Amino acid sequence: MIGPVLVVLDHDRGELDESSLQTITMCAQIGSTAVHVAVVGGAALSATQALGIGGIDSIWLIEHESLSDFAPEAWGDAVVGLARHLEVRTVVGIGTERGSEVLAHVAAGFDAPFISNIIAVDRVDPLELTRARWGGSLLERVAVDFARQESSVTVMSAAPFAFATPEALGDTDERVAIQTFTPELPANASRTRVKHRITLLSGITLQTAPVVVSGGRGVGSAEGFAPLEQLAELLGGAVGCSRVVTNQGWRPHSDQVGQTGKRVAPDLYIACGISGAIQHWIGMQAAQRVLAINLDKDAPMVAKADYAVIGDLHEVIPAIVAELKRRRA
Ligand code: FAD
Repeated sequence: MIGPVLVVLDHDRGELDESSLQTITMCAQIGSTAVHVAVVGGAALSATQALGIGGIDSIWLIEHESLSDFAPEAWGDAVVGLARHLEVRTVVGIGTERGSEVLAHVAAGFDAPFISNIIAVDRVDPLELTRARWGGSLLERVAVDFARQESSVTVMSAAPFAFATPEALGDTDERVAIQTFTPELPANASRTRVKHRITLLSGITLQTAPVVVSGGRGVGSAEGFAPLEQLAELLGGAVGCSRVVTNQGWRPHSDQVGQTGKRVAPDLYIACGISGAIQHWIGMQAAQRVLAINLDKDAPMVAKADYAVIGDLHEVIPAIVAELKRRRA
């Protein structure tokens, strides 16, 4: 039996990473008896956003002077403190970069096992889970035997976009109260912390764009991305790319989608001249719809896509751009 669970929300200075709410859906599936939500760093905005979500029994703002900005060890220590205070035996979070780092410190703090990147709950009692490993090329079935576990606590993370975002509460549904917890942290708790921030992007980013127009080796050059940029602009989207493209120096690494790049979840992902290697697919598999434009009808991207145009992207994309412009004129 899982019992009550402490969920750690991921946020950047109050801006909630919405995928972290999906952990609440996972909590319901693993049979948690209560869901306590922790927001580290006094980020009232994230806590307020969580207020509108169902399936939550309490929300805790963890406040301390060492927690003013992201500091993974301090966040981990703070979550350990709250988990002890609430006497929960399971701590759950989202497998984003920040989330995974904080949960690793939580697991170390309890000397507890960490079941990361869960993509499915197969059975509740006894608990059986599927987790993605090696960037998604290996799926592992995990049977959790709480009785034989040395640690009293188990730490788990959900893979982003593996579980649905929970339903929002209605206007008349009762909200839980937000409570405050002040942990005891050592003086050197925030030894790793954010000191400077450099903003590289503005407006629509790859990770928030509803449409991503992504190019691969087939684009052929840095200049070849001009029609993709035009198409992205017309669709209110952003341009992404494969690793071959960043290796060639045609686009910056910040545009790369995949295992060693960004993970995106747009409504539409347009893959232009991208073969669809597993390391690329991992980064865009959460897209609602995929359109592949490729010369090769047997390319893995074409096989997996919802729609495909078999043709030369240097002809197909300008034709789509021209048609969009004609219709909007
Ligand atoms: P290719 O595989 O060469 O495919 C090019 C495609 O373009 C082909 O399907 C071809 O038919 C098509 N094409 C060619 N010309 C045209 C044309 N004129 N019109 C239409 N179609 C055309 N890759 C990533 O993308 N992201 C990652 O994060 C990533 N991480 C990796 C991590 C590791 C540890 C490893 C080992 C690899 C990683 N890779 C990653 C690389 C990955 O394995 C592939 O090599 C890469 O994704 C291939 O890029 P591509 O599809 O652009 O090129």
